[in-house]
Amino acid sequence: MKPKLPGLAAGLKDKLIQQALERKLRQAATPPQQATSTASNAGARNAIPEAFYRFHLHPSYQQLRILNDGAARMGLQNPFFKLHEGAASDTTRIDGSTYVNYSSYNYLGLSGDPFVTEAAKAAIDRYGTSVSASRLVSGERPIHRELELGIAQLYEVDDAITFVSGHATNVSTIGHLFGPRDLVLHDELIHNSVLQGIQLSGARRLPFPHNDWNALDGLLTEHRHEFERVLIVLEGIYSMDGDYPDLPRFVEIKRRHRCFLMVDEAHSLGVMGARGHGIREHFGLAGSEVDIWMGTLSKTLAGCGGYIAGESALVEHLKFLAPGFLYSVGMPPAVAAASLAALQRLQKVPERVKDLQERGRSFLKQAQEAGINTGTSEGLAVVPAIVGSSLKATRLSAQLFEHGINVQPILYPAVPEKSARLRFFISCTHTEAQIGQTIKTLAALI
Ligand code: PMP
Repeated sequence: MKPKLPGLAAGLKDKLIQQALERKLRQAATPPQQATSTASNAGARNAIPEAFYRFHLHPSYQQLRILNDGAARMGLQNPFFKLHEGAASDTTRIDGSTYVNYSSYNYLGLSGDPFVTEAAKAAIDRYGTSVSASRLVSGERPIHRELELGIAQLYEVDDAITFVSGHATNVSTIGHLFGPRDLVLHDELIHNSVLQGIQLSGARRLPFPHNDWNALDGLLTEHRHEFERVLIVLEGIYSMDGDYPDLPRFVEIKRRHRCFLMVDEAHSLGVMGARGHGIREHFGLAGSEVDIWMGTLSKTLAGCGGYIAGESALVEHLKFLAPGFLYSVGMPPAVAAASLAALQRLQKVPERVKDLQERGRSFLKQAQEAGINTGTSEGLAVVPAIVGSSLKATRLSAQLFEHGINVQPILYPAVPEKSARLRFFISCTHTEAQIGQTIKTLAALI
């Protein structure tokens, strides 16, 4: 099979290396002759291509090498795996220097907040560093339930369950609740974890155009009756674009077509609504209007892991049967305590939410005035600067770094090549001066 090469390689015009590698891959992957029928035969064994038992010949690894080697040859600095030497919020330290930072999800500055840090330390003193077992058997600690009940209260729903990873929360929840007779419809820009969950479930998958509730309605009119359970999945704020769905429209559609609705609030909790209670508060909806509230603990909540909140039957079902919960260790006490403390702080510091929203709006307005393409961003914590090629995004990120600004480029295949971008995450701790300086520098470089 001819390997597909990501657009950055084409963008780099490194055709010779590309062709040589493709030749090598084709040779390495030439199928063995009658390998299955003569498997016990030593000759046939020798005919098994190296590509089938050597990691360095794996096609996706080869593609990665093309990208990385090509970029290095062009003198591009690798923008990934930078070493941050302390807590990262509006600023961060890298290699001994301080940078204005736009690459962390610390939206309300609660990672590094003394109250949150103290809570994590106290939990270690009391419970140790690991619960050393799945919650179901002997890994349950009071701090887990306190956190889950706090999340359920925030959504005004029956209960919540926390998983050790945000990504695994989506994989395990969707993977467990849905099956081959079911359909999952999702926004075309939905996060990878949702796609992986759908793949695991074996359900039919149908994407609909970004935020287009009308198109979703049409798909459901055409296909709803062919399936048993149907799930619609949205994000509260889309992590690449910084815009959000018209949630009341989606609620009405899911009701009319008798479907489940799931909203991933990874980037909207702490960001939307006057008190930071998320997209539900923004639109003034009841918690019960959405069947599955999902969120991560790694962003506003200053920890690590994910949650599902909803009715008791949903949470109880997942607690006893979702593999990513059942067969995985309970959250480390320090992490659960940090997220619980962050949740408590969220209730006490609405001014931080207001600051975050103001800074985001200001960033967006200044960027637009400077002629920067911010796509459909609403200025809520996530603002892209779409520059049109992976090469340009990588170069701009490196140039900004030289000017003391740390922002991550987002390249193909994470986004289509023509919408490669820099993605700015805003924190409530950013100052107007930092934002003004950033836009000025970016506008001069772009
Ligand atoms: N959902 C969305 C929308 C995300 O952006 C992310 C990661 N940023 C996740 C889920 C996974 O969360 P985590 O990184 O906490 O595992």
